[in-house]
Amino acid sequence: MAPTNPPLPAASPSQPTINLRRLPAGDIHLRAWLFVSGAPKNEINVCPSMSWLITHPPSGTRLIFDLGIPKDPTCYTPAIQKRITTVAKVEVREDVFDGLQRAGLDPATDIDTVIFSHLHYDHIGFPRGFGPRTKYVVGPGALGLITGPASYPADPNSHFDSNLLPRERTTELPPGTDGSFWSPLGPFPAARDWFGDGSVYVVNAPGHLPGHVNLLVRVEREKWVLLGGDSCHDVRILCGQCETSVYRDPETGVIRNAHIDKELAEEHLGRIRKLADEVEVVLAHDWEWARDNPTKYGYLGTVEGKARI
Ligand SMILES: [Zn+2]
Repeated sequence: MAPTNPPLPAASPSQPTINLRRLPAGDIHLRAWLFVSGAPKNEINVCPSMSWLITHPPSGTRLIFDLGIPKDPTCYTPAIQKRITTVAKVEVREDVFDGLQRAGLDPATDIDTVIFSHLHYDHIGFPRGFGPRTKYVVGPGALGLITGPASYPADPNSHFDSNLLPRERTTELPPGTDGSFWSPLGPFPAARDWFGDGSVYVVNAPGHLPGHVNLLVRVEREKWVLLGGDSCHDVRILCGQCETSVYRDPETGVIRNAHIDKELAEEHLGRIRKLADEVEVVLAHDWEWARDNPTKYGYLGTVEGKARI
């Protein structure tokens, strides 16, 4: 008999739930064959880079999970600026700040915390657009990307900018093996009850890039959404229909795939699949989900031909 999956925690009698809203954060053109094994060479999907506004009613705390793509690309390092005009084009008609304005929120004063799923350029937005009370949280090992000789400008070709985040207001979460911070949750070995009341969990999600995390959000007493970041880049992989693409980089000749550690990433994806029946999984670039659910979770961007809710 297959081992049963440990369930997610049941709601407490006074269980708080989260107000979840999707923010506009631009689109990125992803060549499917770089992510999905067997995808046609001419398949390019216009994918959202999702950003989420999370309000915790008991405390009034507002946090944002991922900032997507900034409207002004000049805040990127030169290497990224080149990449977004060649390999992976981006389009940003509205960004996180437009969405916050639509919600009547001021980024200078109203956002407590920004948590990044990881520090790839299509998730970092423009963090310095927030005011001095906003704090930033990155996953285990992420700070190593934006410090030291491999970061920009020490390495002029780096995608990781050492000036991305104000260091005094940025916290890196401890390694996934640190049992004084992380606890097991359902299929996941390392999760953190963010507000201490079972409403939001940060889930360590290693494999894609150092510091990659997911967010598990309780939107109703027994209804959860897993914001999956780049745990994979396409639902065909999530549902097991296709494998992660492994390919020879046309420029360098190096064998590559979408993850730093494919084995770890797939192990984590296997854990996500165990929850698929009880949890809505939304990957950061799930263009099909965005197409089919244009106004879901009170989308704060413009939706052509559809009324916002
Ligand atoms: Zn991404």
